[in-house]
Amino acid sequence: MTDDSLVVTDLHVEFSGFVAVGGVSFDAHPGEVRFLIGPNGAGKTTCIDAVTGLAKATGSARLGERELLGRPVHKIVRLGIGRTFQTASVFDELTVLQNLDIAAGRHRPSVSLLRARRGVEESIEQALEETGLAGELATPAGILSHGQKQWLEIAMLLVQDAKVLLLDEPVAGMSQDERTATGELLQRIAAKRIVLVVEHDMDFMRRFATRVTVLHQGKVLSQGTVADVQADPRVQEVYLGT
Ligand code: ADP
Repeated sequence: MTDDSLVVTDLHVEFSGFVAVGGVSFDAHPGEVRFLIGPNGAGKTTCIDAVTGLAKATGSARLGERELLGRPVHKIVRLGIGRTFQTASVFDELTVLQNLDIAAGRHRPSVSLLRARRGVEESIEQALEETGLAGELATPAGILSHGQKQWLEIAMLLVQDAKVLLLDEPVAGMSQDERTATGELLQRIAAKRIVLVVEHDMDFMRRFATRVTVLHQGKVLSQGTVADVQADPRVQEVYLGT
C-alpha cells in the first residue's frame, strides 16, 4: 500500500432506508486503470458520489493517510480527487483554453502570481498535448465532438493536478476510434495518477482494465484481473443476457 493509494473500506450508503451501497471495499493505486463495473443500479455512481462527498456515507475512503468521508466537497477536491460525470460538464460557450483557464484558476497556488501563471501555462500545455486538444485551443467547447468534450473534462482535471481521476462512463456514446483513443489516454494518465473508471461497457473494460471490481445490488460480487472476473461464474450469471 503506497502513500498515495485510494483505499475504500466497508462503504455504506443509504437513501431513506434503501441500501444503495452495502459494505463495498476496494483499492486503487497509481499506475492502474482500475474499473468499477456492474449492471445498472449496482451502486457504482453512488460509490464515487460517496468518495467525492456528494453522498453521505459510512465506512472509510482514504487517500494515503487522509480520510475523505465527512469532508465537504471542496476540501475533497483540494486533496486531489477529481471526477467527471456521465454528461460532460464544460462551459459550451467558452473556448477550450478558457475552460482550462477556469479549471486552473480554481486551484492556482497563491505563491507569486507570475510564477503561478507560468506553472499554469505549462500544465495547460501539457494537458492539451496529452488529450490531443492542442489544435482546438480557440474552439468553443460547445462545438467539440462528444469525445473531445470528454477529453476536455479530463484535461481540466489534469490542469487541476488531480491525483485521482474518477470517471463516470467516459466512453458512453463514443465511436470505436474515440473509445480506443480514450483507453490509451487513460493508460498514459495512469502512469502517475490513479484512474478509476465506472463503466457499463464490458468490451472497453476488457481492453483497458488492470483490475476490476464487479458490483451487484450494492455489494462486491467479484474482484481481480479481467481474466479473474470474466472466469467468475457469478459474474457470468449477472451479465448473462445483458
Ligand atoms: P449505478 O451507477 O451502478 O447504475 P447507482 O449508484 O446510480 O447505480 O444507484 C444505485 C441504487 O441507488 C439504484 O437503485 C438507484 O436507484 C439508487 N439511488 C441512487 N441515487 C439515489 C438517490 N439520490 N435517492 C434514492 N435512491 C438513489
